[in-house]
Amino acid sequence: MRLSQFHLHTSKEIPADAEIVSHKLMLKAGMIRKLASGLYTWTPLGLRVLRKVERAVREEMDAAGAIEMLMPSVQPRELWEETGRWEKFGGQLLKIQDRKDAWYCYGPTHEEVVTDFARNELASYKQLPVCFYQIQTKFRDEIRPRFGVMRSREFLMKDAYSFHLSDEDLDRQYRVMYDAYSRIFTRLGLGFRAVFADTGAIGGSASHEFHVLADSGEDAIAYAIDGNGAEGSGYAANVELAEALAPGQRAAATETMRKVETPTQKTCEAVAGLLGVDLQRTVKSVALMTADAAAPAFVLALVRGDHVVNEIKLGKLDGMAGYRAATEAEILEHLGSTPGFLGPVAPKRAITVIADRSVAAMADFVVGANEPGFHLAGVNWGRDLPEPERVADIRNVVAGDRSPDGSGTLGIARGIEVGHIFQLGRQYAAAMGCTVLDDSGKAATPTMGCYGIGVSRIVAAAIEQNHDDNGIAWPEAMAPWQVAVCVINPKKDAAVSDAAAALYRELADAGLDVVLDDRGLRPGAMFADIELIGIPHRVVVSERGLAAGTFEYRHRRASEAENLERAALEQRLG
Ligand code: ATP
Ligand code: MG
Ligand code: MG
Ligand code: MG
Repeated sequence: MRLSQFHLHTSKEIPADAEIVSHKLMLKAGMIRKLASGLYTWTPLGLRVLRKVERAVREEMDAAGAIEMLMPSVQPRELWEETGRWEKFGGQLLKIQDRKDAWYCYGPTHEEVVTDFARNELASYKQLPVCFYQIQTKFRDEIRPRFGVMRSREFLMKDAYSFHLSDEDLDRQYRVMYDAYSRIFTRLGLGFRAVFADTGAIGGSASHEFHVLADSGEDAIAYAIDGNGAEGSGYAANVELAEALAPGQRAAATETMRKVETPTQKTCEAVAGLLGVDLQRTVKSVALMTADAAAPAFVLALVRGDHVVNEIKLGKLDGMAGYRAATEAEILEHLGSTPGFLGPVAPKRAITVIADRSVAAMADFVVGANEPGFHLAGVNWGRDLPEPERVADIRNVVAGDRSPDGSGTLGIARGIEVGHIFQLGRQYAAAMGCTVLDDSGKAATPTMGCYGIGVSRIVAAAIEQNHDDNGIAWPEAMAPWQVAVCVINPKKDAAVSDAAAALYRELADAGLDVVLDDRGLRPGAMFADIELIGIPHRVVVSERGLAAGTFEYRHRRASEAENLERAALEQRLG
């Protein structure tokens, strides 16, 4: 690629509405452009990076034996009614109507569509196990789209779905995918951690999230540090974070609460009495993903200002039916097994029963079982508490505690969720009547796994981990180009131009992904661009270098450039 024939549009300005470094740098480098809230155009430059991530994901999925396919992004309402998720999924589901007034949604995920495919396509146990995947655009009507493509409404996801006859075989596949995910993030050059996670709106039993570690991450993850100070071998869990309540929602909720009194509320009050805590305010919480959206579930929460600092759900997961109100005995048991909840902060601040969330809000606000660790069950942190208070709050409660597996004490880090794998079990196949004949000729309901990766989010997450004052410093595997050949004064000096073009061709022929900067910018401006867009290797071809028989080489992370002869240069470029 010659930059003179490409569309590179960098800017020096720091965009006013961008809060985190990846969002700022993606705008400055001209990788994305905002169309509307949560909707972004990937420019030619941004798309090169996105495609590199996609390629790594695709190659590792293929290597793990998954089979690529492509499902529609628009999905009919009837399918979602079969699983009950047309209502349950909440406000993130964008519902649309066609000219015949038939309802559809823009797919936020594809369990229904893939299960429909499977029930038509799979007839015999001989076709199992099978794992399908796609790399496709999803839409979720996020309450607060933010941070550019980190939390957008339209985004690119790799989603895979596997079908098995036995639980053991699902276990085996789950481990295969766990390993494939670890290889993907390693190959992309990212610092990450896999943690136990809540299964949330998707449901199911076992679940792990993969987090890219970064201070700007919206999630907090807790992990065991062993006696020698080593991390990463033992327990790790996600601390699901609560959305702060919008003031309007809170007022409406308080109003609802005044009007509604249910047995569950009385239970809450009784429990609060037993615990000796003061219920300052009682506000009803709308059930999370209940089949009946009006059925209440309650949240006992620690509130400071507008923020939920800590909370516990007084609801009980009831299979596909969603959440029902918990009994008093269940609540006490739950509290008893959640040591963090009444930790050191509790006496200092009153405990409150909060808080309304609309069913829409709840979709992003999953009940935090964090099985099997349970240490952090039901705990949510105010996503928007300002640093460093937010971190201090988390530390107050869990850091230094013994980890649930006994392997050490807990440390806390912030992370960005880039991948999530689930053992779904048989709930989707059962709800949709998907069966295969087993080896004795009887109809059997397959058990399923599902495995997601946020392809577009990875691009932003990588920048959070790889940047400096001059811009992005891509890991090799994600860079838009590996090498930039920069020409000083291309128009003035034909010999320099020719030498640069020859070098560019030779490197490209040798299999390097190389770009020729032949735009004729002054060196300062040219180098600033190449640094900002994060190209790992820069080679400068100048009149002076040609005369000396050298090229000026600089790695993006090196502090100095060096003059190298051709052989030495090739060695550096690998
Ligand atoms: P989050 O907790 O960040 O809202 P999620 O748990 O709702 O994510 P999943 O349903 O697990 O997301 O989807 C699989 C992956 O898709 C996530 O791990 C994440 O990387 C990505 N993803 C989810 N929502 C978004 C979004 N709004 N923008 C970009 N990527 C997203
Ligand atoms: Mg979400
Ligand atoms: Mg999540
Ligand atoms: Mg998730």
